[in-house]
Amino acid sequence: MFNAILLNKNDDGSTDAKLTQLDEAQLPAEGDVTVRVEYSTINYKDGLAITGKSPVVRKWPLVPGIDGAGEVIASSHPDWKEGDPVILNGWGVGEVHMGCLAQQARLKGDWLIRRPASISARNAMAIGTAGYTAMLCAMALQEKGVGKDSGEILVTGASGGVGSVAIAILSAWGYRVVASTGKASEADYLKALGAADIIDRAELSAPGKPLQKERWAGVVDSVGSHTLVNALAQTRYGGAVAACGLAQGLDLPGSVAPFILRGISLLGIDSVMATREKREAAWQRLASDLPLDKLEQMIEEIGLEEALPRARDIIEGKVRGRLVVDVN
Ligand code: NDP
Repeated sequence: MFNAILLNKNDDGSTDAKLTQLDEAQLPAEGDVTVRVEYSTINYKDGLAITGKSPVVRKWPLVPGIDGAGEVIASSHPDWKEGDPVILNGWGVGEVHMGCLAQQARLKGDWLIRRPASISARNAMAIGTAGYTAMLCAMALQEKGVGKDSGEILVTGASGGVGSVAIAILSAWGYRVVASTGKASEADYLKALGAADIIDRAELSAPGKPLQKERWAGVVDSVGSHTLVNALAQTRYGGAVAACGLAQGLDLPGSVAPFILRGISLLGIDSVMATREKREAAWQRLASDLPLDKLEQMIEEIGLEEALPRARDIIEGKVRGRLVVDVN
């Protein structure tokens, strides 16, 4: 038997989440690697799954947890053997496949990547999907030619998971980062991560003109909606905006003006189905470039039993940085 969070759908359509015990027979048959999970995390999407606020979960009952770090217990996959340190991010785990907010998970070997030696299991989950996505965004801006001398980079949703890691990475790479936040009280935290300047997110969250004063060479946006539209409208000629999130909304209420008059590129970032090559490249760069002292400042460590209340908090925007779950 092992401890796990379990989500259930009731006959009236409502959902509930509880801490319970499962046995190995309840793990999905689909999967060729069994992992002893050491740490998991609560991302925004886990918050949506656990609270039932959005239809993220499409199979019931389900263990949530889109991220896990642990050790292989058993494997019939040629790439993995007992004792291997692995990381799982996405691939529909915690949505349609039993997830990692549990002490054990059965996963597909093709989904796993080897945990880099310099990243502990705890730090891997401090990074998690949020941090790996922040790296995908930063790499996409670089690949698009936005260099550290191109100009300022805007990071929205700055005090959240994606935002915090994006600030730490980009400032470590020598970029001048401006953090947009709704939490003025987190200014010191954001500066300690590497933000050179801070703006109030209210400057970006209301409807604005299709083209505005050009300021940003690049943007990492985890917020969407009007914030993304205004970020596009303020991006300098030829600049690029990496869009990965929807904390403000799924909508994109804007115009094509930034694309056709300023040659702005909108770079869509998806972590869930990204190729293994892309994931390994991102994790290698996280291993080499993300300052661990900055990562440590983002971490709040909790146990499995706290996953439920903290899932509500992340949806209400009350979480700073990254929630790491010690499942044991
Ligand atoms: P967090 O909740 O940790 O961060 C989101 C941040 O957005 C908050 O901390 C807050 O920052 C800001 N925010 C919250 N609500 C609003 C609002 N109504 N208007 C404007 N800003 C708001 O979440 P994550 O960092 O884990 O994820 C961020 C987003 O990225 C989510 O939408 C998530 O689904 C998405 N995502 C997408 C991935 C992909 O593959 N495309 C992968 C990972 C995440 P502040 O208080 O500083 O303003």
